[in-house]
Amino acid sequence: MNLVEKKVALVTGASRGIGRSIALRMAQEGADVAFTYLSSVEKGEALVKELEQFGIKAKGYRSDASDFQAADQLVTDVLADFGKLDILVNNAGVTRDGLLMRMSEEQWDSVMTINLKSVFNLTKAAIKSMMRAKSGSIINITSVVGISGNAGQANYSASKAGIIGFTKSVALELGSRNIRSNAVAPGFIETEMTDAIDTKAVEEWKQSIPMKRGGQPEDVADACVFLASDLSRYITGQVLQVDGGMLT
Ligand code: NAP
Repeated sequence: MNLVEKKVALVTGASRGIGRSIALRMAQEGADVAFTYLSSVEKGEALVKELEQFGIKAKGYRSDASDFQAADQLVTDVLADFGKLDILVNNAGVTRDGLLMRMSEEQWDSVMTINLKSVFNLTKAAIKSMMRAKSGSIINITSVVGISGNAGQANYSASKAGIIGFTKSVALELGSRNIRSNAVAPGFIETEMTDAIDTKAVEEWKQSIPMKRGGQPEDVADACVFLASDLSRYITGQVLQVDGGMLT
């Protein structure tokens, strides 16, 4: 299948984990892929070679998604390098967990800036060319905890809930221009982000999931390909949970 053939996708935070999988699946389905990373320079360079094996054009950019000017420059560079931008996947994200009683202002601000402001930065920069093209698919990676909340993650949950409100607002503003805006809400996905969690807590968590296992980055990537492709042409403003039934 070539579900996104001849399209150009930009994926933020693709050096590792879910973003890396999204970039690879987009390439496998025929898209040219631009992606970003922040600190993992070697992994970013290695990914370009892996992506090119699918016979598509690929380029990595070292760019901080939380920086408004850098995001604008990134989209300018992607348009210059690839000629257009059809798909934006706002994936870059971090956790800085702690109970609210002990959470610092820096913990709050950094998570809100990296997780939520980045989505504003990239989307604002990308929609100019999408509006001219009268076509586009924006996919924002939120989390089930943006719907349910989570003890110890007030900052992270708030940033992910903010992404859902932003996603729906963009869908309302830009639907008439044939630009779709959807969110994907992963549950527990096995990446470096979740490796940091205590093993016993992880096992208990998995047992509470109806499908009795954690998800893989590919499970999230497949949902993104669907939302990027014409298979989802009449779907906008939605939150697609990829969580094995964790939050029903
Ligand atoms: P991860 O393995 O920690 O990877 C995070 C990625 O984001 C890395 O590529 C990192 O780049 C990049 N990044 C971080 N800050 C950045 C910035 N300021 N600018 C650009 N890139 C930046 O995380 P993951 O588990 O794959 O998570 C990916 C997304 O899914 C996040 O938004 C996360 O909140 C969401 N999510 C994950 C889970 C889960 O269970 N894993 C569940 C729900 C939602 P460097 O390598 O260069 O630092």
